[in-house]
Amino acid sequence: MRLIDVVVIGAGQAGLTAAHHLQRTGVDHVLLDRGAGPGGAWRNRWPSLRLGGVHGIHPLPGVAMPETDGARPASEVVSEYFGSYERELALPVLRPVHVHAVRDGGERLLVESSAGTWAARAVINATGTWDNPFLPHYPGRREFTGRQLHTADYRGPEEFRGQHVIVVGGGISAVEHLLEISEVADTTWVTRRPPKFTDAMFTPEDGRAAVAEVERRVRAGLPPGSVVSATGLPNSPAVIAARELGVLDRLPMFQRITADGVVWADGRAQRADVILWATGFRPAIAHLAPLNLRAPGGGVQLDGTRAVAEPRLHLIGYGPSASTIGANRAGRAAAREVRELLRTGDQECL
Ligand code: FAD
Repeated sequence: MRLIDVVVIGAGQAGLTAAHHLQRTGVDHVLLDRGAGPGGAWRNRWPSLRLGGVHGIHPLPGVAMPETDGARPASEVVSEYFGSYERELALPVLRPVHVHAVRDGGERLLVESSAGTWAARAVINATGTWDNPFLPHYPGRREFTGRQLHTADYRGPEEFRGQHVIVVGGGISAVEHLLEISEVADTTWVTRRPPKFTDAMFTPEDGRAAVAEVERRVRAGLPPGSVVSATGLPNSPAVIAARELGVLDRLPMFQRITADGVVWADGRAQRADVILWATGFRPAIAHLAPLNLRAPGGGVQLDGTRAVAEPRLHLIGYGPSASTIGANRAGRAAAREVRELLRTGDQECL
């Protein structure tokens, strides 16, 4: 068992930001990351997701993202940037290290991992959502003889050429999958609720309002919910073109899955080779279960980034801070609070 002041779990945007601020103020820490290399979740995003096609990646603190060709895959560019950031700042990242559990060990939190156990005075959890894809249950899911995959497994449209693909989900990822796949295959789009397309520019005020709503939920101990449900789907030129071609004609959710497709309540059926579940992600926090953090509302109740049920634990990149800019702010705030906690603890020991 190793003694340390702070363990940061996850070396994505949030974890690297927290480590930057801990390092600047001389706090002893280690970053444990299960990824095969730098980049956080970006490392795993599909190659056809180009840098120019994402909404905008906020730079890590202190080092600008190098100018680069927007046609390059975002996964490559961000992995290179994060990798050089880790090297330049000599951040203490250990990988691949999978944290299985965080337990209350009395005076310290015990972080159990594939590389052994750390006994920490505080833990900053920055594990994102990518490792916890959400797949809703629908009757017949096991009967389907075609292929089922989630956004997390999507590598681009080419493998579906000539097939019929049902895309499930009402978010931006579903729309992006449809735009790409419809170029090479037949598609059907199903969503639980009618999607809300909007011409309105997404203003900074809209962004703040959406984040404030998620923050309210997290403060109340509810599951965070998604920011896009509050903002709607942007009517970009590509979206307008696809709508004119009928690619975005949406159907309600089917009733059940059969061996070779899906069936709706009114008896209508659609044959399919593939069902692509673009049904989102949930916070990847199973390793925190031993701390019994779940509030009666089903989420982890936070005060800022601090877990109300365990004040030595901070969650960043969670709920209202699940964006690159939010992760930066939360990383800084958590590092500051943890430093204060350690200082107060040191004074009490004198
Ligand atoms: P991640 O990047 O997911 O990093 C978490 C790290 O923790 C990973 O390296 C993972 O391996 C590690 N980890 C997980 N579990 C464990 C464990 N048990 N033990 C050890 N390590 C673990 N936001 C924007 O601001 N702009 C955008 O353009 C944008 N585009 C997006 C596009 C897509 C398709 C998606 C899904 C999200 C997008 N977002 C965007 C959201 C944004 O990517 C995230 O909010 C942010 O990058 C997440 O950073 P993070 O550090 O919280 O998590």
